[in-house]
Amino acid sequence: MGQRQAHLSRVRDATFDLLVIGGGITGAGVARDAARRGLRVALLERSDLASGTSSRSSKLVHGGLRYLEMYEFSLVFESVSERRVLMDIAPHLVKPLPFVFPIFKSMGKSAAIIDIGMWLYDGLSLFRSPKIHRRLSKKATRAAEPALRRKGLKSAELYYDCSTDDSRLTLETALDATRAGAAVVTWCPVESFVHDDRGRVTGVQARDAIGGGSLQVTAGAVVLAAGPWTDDLRSSALGERSRPLLRPTKGVHVVVARARLPVKHAVVMVHPEDERVLFALPWGERTYIGTTDTDWDGDPDHVAADLADVDYLIAASGHFFPDHPLHYDDVIATWAGLRPLINQEGVHESQVSREHQVDVEANGMVTVAGGKLTTYRRMAAEVVDRAMDVLRLSTWEHAPLREANTEREPLPGAVGWPKDDDEAQLIEDIMAASDGRFDEAVATALAGSHGMIGIDVAVLAASRPELAERLLPERPEVLAAVEWAATRELAATLDDVLQRRLPLFFKDSDQGLGCAERVADHLAGVLGWSAERRRAELETYRAQVAESRAWRLEMQARHEQPPGDEE
Ligand code: FAD
Repeated sequence: MGQRQAHLSRVRDATFDLLVIGGGITGAGVARDAARRGLRVALLERSDLASGTSSRSSKLVHGGLRYLEMYEFSLVFESVSERRVLMDIAPHLVKPLPFVFPIFKSMGKSAAIIDIGMWLYDGLSLFRSPKIHRRLSKKATRAAEPALRRKGLKSAELYYDCSTDDSRLTLETALDATRAGAAVVTWCPVESFVHDDRGRVTGVQARDAIGGGSLQVTAGAVVLAAGPWTDDLRSSALGERSRPLLRPTKGVHVVVARARLPVKHAVVMVHPEDERVLFALPWGERTYIGTTDTDWDGDPDHVAADLADVDYLIAASGHFFPDHPLHYDDVIATWAGLRPLINQEGVHESQVSREHQVDVEANGMVTVAGGKLTTYRRMAAEVVDRAMDVLRLSTWEHAPLREANTEREPLPGAVGWPKDDDEAQLIEDIMAASDGRFDEAVATALAGSHGMIGIDVAVLAASRPELAERLLPERPEVLAAVEWAATRELAATLDDVLQRRLPLFFKDSDQGLGCAERVADHLAGVLGWSAERRRAELETYRAQVAESRAWRLEMQARHEQPPGDEE
């Protein structure tokens, strides 16, 4: 029986202490916390883990320097504390990243004010930042970041936050929940809610989106962690069109070759049009630029970059790196996500608070919304505390509980991680475990994405040498990681593998289209797909890539406009 199938049969018409709706970072965090406390937990995700906002972030575990400007000191304090915790429990996924914040003559804020902000930022982390910030002179800034605009440059601040892989952080959080006993079912949308005769939510009706058929899951407490889809589900659960809880805003990133925008650090940019803060971030052989922040009232199922987003990001880059102007053709990939922010009226979209909110609804359902990837673990603990109140009130019987210890227990890829963070040794161990079939580039990529589990993937390739093959000659991803994803990481579709288990959708120059057939063939063998299913999987993946490139159609239309028709 396949991995997904095994989880599915555990939840089918079964009863749990806690049912979590949504497999983004928030839902995965809740499932991990609750399962580690000893509760019987089920999580239902309508698509893949992290398929919503949690694979569409800026991929930073950070305090959010700019929130200081909005006086959100407690959010920054919480975030920088969590940054430390996540570096400890997931060192392979949460890594220090140096940022250069250049200061120009034209800027509204003085260098002294920015320096005070930096001290505050380091201070709120109780001086446990990856490294304490320091001021760079004009000369040192030019040496540190040669691609930066020179005109008007005065100095810079060099400070530290962390980068992450948001999809894999979510995945490993969910996998850790399964290690603690949770059942996690992907491709299983919740379609309606079940109530008792007092109107309390006691479970859900869901659909098996892959095998077909419906199922009912019953629970002592139900947690809604559906990110941008929260309002729709909440209305359905409350049985009325409730006042929207959210004010979703769209954020877009574009990916270009590092050679086209050769940043050495993450660079903070203040957009010349609206003074919003955004970043140019180094990402291996790529650089990505983001993000935008615009109100969104469309369908959360179809969020994509449009031409105005791409123009905005390219303009910021052109302003800060005038010797490296980007053209539309430089854009390899885009991604867009919706921030599930708590509704706040009367403020500009980029000023909406990133704080989260946990509510126990009149029908007993616990709803969580808002927050950040960085703070997910604390949010999750708060949600489980509130769910425990619900269980107590209804005198629900469960096994004796224990400490969750989520701040100390490593995520799966960090189990056995070297105390001295010696990743070079891990890379050697991966190469050795593969019996020399993986070269250094493959082993380095695996250490970075899978951590210690890279060794297991290497052992798999050593036992079946055909799995050691690269998917594309110029890239380090191998077939063994595809097999591992399908058998050990709850991947159930081609898109799951190419977008969220491996970074091909975002990093490959053709977004993985060149190896999609081959990966589909392999998955068809492992997961028992028919020829028709294989064809449908390819079609879906190509449609995903096309959606991320839809802005190009707008561009073509713009060029095809007859002269004089421009607005
Ligand atoms: P989601 O990840 O959207 O998860 C909700 C899940 O619910 C989805 O997977 C969805 O499929 C599922 N679902 C929906 N309906 C159903 C149903 N009927 N049945 C079952 N499941 C359902 N935070 C940071 O800390 N650092 C950053 O750098 C950062 N950058 C960001 C940049 C952008 C552009 C955006 C948009 C956000 C950023 N954030 C960042 C915020 C962070 O990404 C989000 O707060 C976080 O990912 C939200 O996670 P979530 O689990 O609440 O929502």
